Amino acid sequence: MNITVLSLFPGMLRGFFESSIMARAVKRGLVSYELVDIRDYATDRHRKCDDEVFGGGAGMLMLPGPLGAALEAAGSPAKRTVFLTPSGRLFNQAMARDFAAERDLVLVCGHYEGIDQRVIDTYVTDEVSIGDYVLSSGEVAALVLVDAVYRLVDGVITGESLAEESFGLGLPEGSDGRKSASLLEYPQYTRPADYASMPVPEVLTSGHHANIARWRLRESVRKTLAYRPELLAAAGLPEEVRRLLREIVIEGGSREPDTEDPGRAN
Ligand code: SAM
Repeated sequence: MNITVLSLFPGMLRGFFESSIMARAVKRGLVSYELVDIRDYATDRHRKCDDEVFGGGAGMLMLPGPLGAALEAAGSPAKRTVFLTPSGRLFNQAMARDFAAERDLVLVCGHYEGIDQRVIDTYVTDEVSIGDYVLSSGEVAALVLVDAVYRLVDGVITGESLAEESFGLGLPEGSDGRKSASLLEYPQYTRPADYASMPVPEVLTSGHHANIARWRLRESVRKTLAYRPELLAAAGLPEEVRRLLREIVIEGGSREPDTEDPGRAN
C-alpha cells in the first residue's frame, strides 16, 4: 500500500512512519509512504497557505491553490483521497478494512478552520472524522487512520492476531470476508498466574481449548454489553452470541439491547 499524507506540518508525522511495526512494514516493502509539505506548492514568496473566510467569522482557512496543486501532484482524485475532518463520517473498523483494500491512499490534514469546500468537491473521495471532538489539526487524526489501516495490509501482522481482537471477535465472516457484527475483546492475563492475590480465571490455565474459547466469547459479550451495547443491537449476530447475551442479561438483571433502539441497553 502507498500512503501519501498532505500536511502543513509533516514533521509531526515522520516519527510514526519511522518507528516500530510501521518502520518494519516499510522496510519489508509492504507499505511505502510520502509526506508532502503543502507549503511547497505555495506560489508567493511568503509561502502563504491560508486566508480569511468569506462571509466573516473567526479563524483562517487553508487556500485552495497550494492544496489543490499538491493533490494534483499526488494523483487525486483518481486515488482514494481522505480529508480528515470532524464533520466527516465517523471512522470505524469496517472503514479501516475498506481503506486497507486500496493500493493507494491519499490523506489530507486540515489546519486552522479547515479547507476550502471547492477542494473537497474536486479531489476528496471520503470525509472522515475520528471522533466527536475537535482537534487543532488533522495530523493526529491522519495517524489514527493510517495506524488502523496499514496493520490490516496483508503480511504486516499475523491474520490470527487480527481475528482475535476487538470488532472482529467470535463472529462468522460473510461471503466478502467481512465480519457481520462486532464484539469487544475479552479480558486477557499473563504471568504470574496469581498477582496480588488475584488468580487468573481457572479455565485459562486448564489447557482445554474449547472451554477457553467459550469463556472468551462469553466475556466478550459481557464486556460489549457493558461498554458498547449498540454493537450487540446490530444485525447478523450469531445465535450463540444471542444465547450468551440472554444468559448474561438474566444473570445480571440487565435489559437486552433493543434492536430498534440501540444504545439504550444499560
Ligand atoms: N472548523 C472545523 C469544524 O468545526 O468542523 C474544525 C477545524 S479543526 C480546528 C482543524 C483541522 O483539524 C480540521 O480541518 C481537521 O483536519 C482536523 N480535525 C479536527 N478534529 C478532527 C476530528 N475529530 N477528526 C478528524 N479530523 C479532525
